[in-house]
Amino acid sequence: MPDKPSKNFIEEIVEKDLDENRYEGRVHTRFPPEPNGYLHIGHAKSICLNFGIAEKYNGKCNLRFDDTNPLKEGKEYVKSIIEDVKWLGFDWEDRLFFASDYFERMYELAVELIKKGKAYVCDLSNEEIRQYRGTLTQPGKESPYRNRSIEENLDLFERMKNGEFEEGSKTLRAKIDMAHPNLNMRDPVMYRIIKKPHYRQGNKWYIYPTYDWAHCLEDSFELITHSLCTLEFADHRILYEWFLDQLEIYKPQQIEFGRLNLTYTVLSKRKLSILVKEGYVNGWDDPRMPTIAGLRRRGYTPEAIRDFVERTGVSRTDSVVDYALLEHCIREDLNKRANRVMAVLNPVKVIIENYPEDKVEWLDAENNPEDKNAGFRKIPFCREIYIEREDFMEDPPKKYFRLAPDREVRLKHAYYIRCVDVKKDENGEIKEIICRYDPDSKGGWSKDGRKVKGTLHWVSARHCIDAEVRLYEHLFTKENPDEDEDFLQNINPNSLVMLKNCKLEPSLKDAKVGERFQFLRKGYFCVDKDSTAEKPVFNRIVTLKDSWAKIKNKLT
Ligand code: ATP
Ligand code: MG
Repeated sequence: MPDKPSKNFIEEIVEKDLDENRYEGRVHTRFPPEPNGYLHIGHAKSICLNFGIAEKYNGKCNLRFDDTNPLKEGKEYVKSIIEDVKWLGFDWEDRLFFASDYFERMYELAVELIKKGKAYVCDLSNEEIRQYRGTLTQPGKESPYRNRSIEENLDLFERMKNGEFEEGSKTLRAKIDMAHPNLNMRDPVMYRIIKKPHYRQGNKWYIYPTYDWAHCLEDSFELITHSLCTLEFADHRILYEWFLDQLEIYKPQQIEFGRLNLTYTVLSKRKLSILVKEGYVNGWDDPRMPTIAGLRRRGYTPEAIRDFVERTGVSRTDSVVDYALLEHCIREDLNKRANRVMAVLNPVKVIIENYPEDKVEWLDAENNPEDKNAGFRKIPFCREIYIEREDFMEDPPKKYFRLAPDREVRLKHAYYIRCVDVKKDENGEIKEIICRYDPDSKGGWSKDGRKVKGTLHWVSARHCIDAEVRLYEHLFTKENPDEDEDFLQNINPNSLVMLKNCKLEPSLKDAKVGERFQFLRKGYFCVDKDSTAEKPVFNRIVTLKDSWAKIKNKLT
C-alpha cells in the first residue's frame, strides 16, 4: 500500500466530467448516514471522500440524514453524527438535510409512477414476495396483484398512506420485470406499512419508503452530481437509474468504491450496537470502539484519522487495513505535538539515602525534543521517588540495562543512582529500593564521563499525584473477528486493564479532559472524561512501539 496515493479513480471521473462540462461545471456530493448508530472509522472514509472531493473541485457537500426507517433511528444518533463530522473538520454550511423532510415529495412521485403504470399495490406477504422473486438461475413469478388497474392502485396506495391496512398486509412495488437477470429489478418494494412513530415526523406516516426508492430521489432533489457509495450498492445502480428515468427527473451519477475494514475490529453499526447493548463495552464512545466518538475519547486527533483515511486510498474493491497503520498515524501526529512528561504506572519506591531529607530541587525538563518551541518545565526531585517496578530486577538476565543490585542508571533529567540495598515485605515482595546518587551528575550526565546504559523515568514521591490509567488492547483476539459464525466469541477478555495506583509528575495536575501527552517510555495518553480533580483518569492512546514501521520496512 503506497503511503500517499496520487489521483484516485473517483477524482479521475470527476475531472473528466468537469472537462466535458457534464454538470455545468458543478461538483456536488453528499454524506448520507442513517441515524441508527454512531459513526465508525469506515464512515470517516466516506466523509473524507465526499467532503474531500467537494473541497478539491470547488464544489459542495451536503450532510443528509437518510432517515427513512422509524424502527431504529433516533435523535441521539443525529446529534452524535453532527458532532463527529464537525470534529473531523468538515463543514456543510447551510446544507443539512433530512430524507424524512422529502416524504411528501416522494409520495407524490410514487403516485406519478402508479399513474404511468409503473407501480402497483401488492398483497403478497414478505415471505411470498421472496418466494416469487426466483433466484439467480431461475426467473421470478409475477404477483397475482401485478395487473391491478391504475385507479385501484391509486385508491389502495392512498388508503395505505391513511393507515387503513395492517402492517405487512400490503406494499407498493415497482412494475419492472420478474425475469430480469438482476434480482433488484424484479418488482422491488418501494413502500411498506410501518405503524410506528418517526423521530422527526411523529405519527404522520403509516408507510415508509425503502432505501432503493428513497435514495435516488434524495440525490436527485439535492442535485447531487456524484453519488458516492460503497460496493454493495453496485447491483442497485440499475434500479437507481430506472426510477429516475421513469420519472424523467434529474439523474446523478452513482459511483461505488470499496469499503474500509480494519483488522481486530468490526465495522458494522449492527454489530457495534450489539457490543453496546449487551454491555461488552461501556457505550458507543468506549475508547476501545472503532467509532469516531470512541477514537476521539481514546485520544485520536482528527488529523491522524484523516491522514489514515488518505493513506488507505480509494479503490474499487473492499480492503482490510492493518490496525497498526491507524496507530502509526496517531503516533506520527502526536510525536510532533504531545509534550513529554513522566508517569509511573506500576510504582515501587526508591530511597536515595545520601540525598538530604528536606531538600527539593526543581530540575529543568524539556517538553518536546521534536518541537523546540515547546520549552521547558520544572520537575521536583527529592530523597524519595517512584520508578516502575519492572525497571528493577534483583537477579537480572544479560542485556537488562535497568536498575539492579550494585548497578548504576540515569534518572531522566536528574542524576545517576546506584542500587545499594533492597527492602522486602513479609511476602518477599520488594518494598523499597535503597540507592545512592552521584551529586556530580546533575541533569543526568556524570562529570567524569562515566557511561550508564539505562535511563529511567521517575516521579518525586512527595510531589506526585495519584491517577488511574487505562490500558487497552484490541477488542477482538482475531484479525478477522467475523471469520467465526459468532463474532462475539472472539472478544478479547483483556481489552481493558485499569491501573488504579499510578503516580504522575505534578505538572499534570491541571491537565484538561482531552489533553494528550507522551508518558516517557510508556506511550501516548489522553485525559479521559471520567477524570475528576481528586482522581485524574488517563487513557493510553497507543504505545510507542511502531509495529507499522516494522511491517513497512519488511515490505520495502
Ligand atoms: P454499517 O454497515 O456500519 O451499518 P451503513 O453503510 O449501513 O454502515 P450508513 O449510515 O448507511 O451506514 O452509511 C453512510 C455512508 O457511509 C454510506 O454512503 C456508506 O456507503 C458509507 N460507509 C459505511 N461504512 C463504510 C465503510 N466501512 N467504508 C467506507 N464507507 C462506508
Ligand atoms: Mg445502512
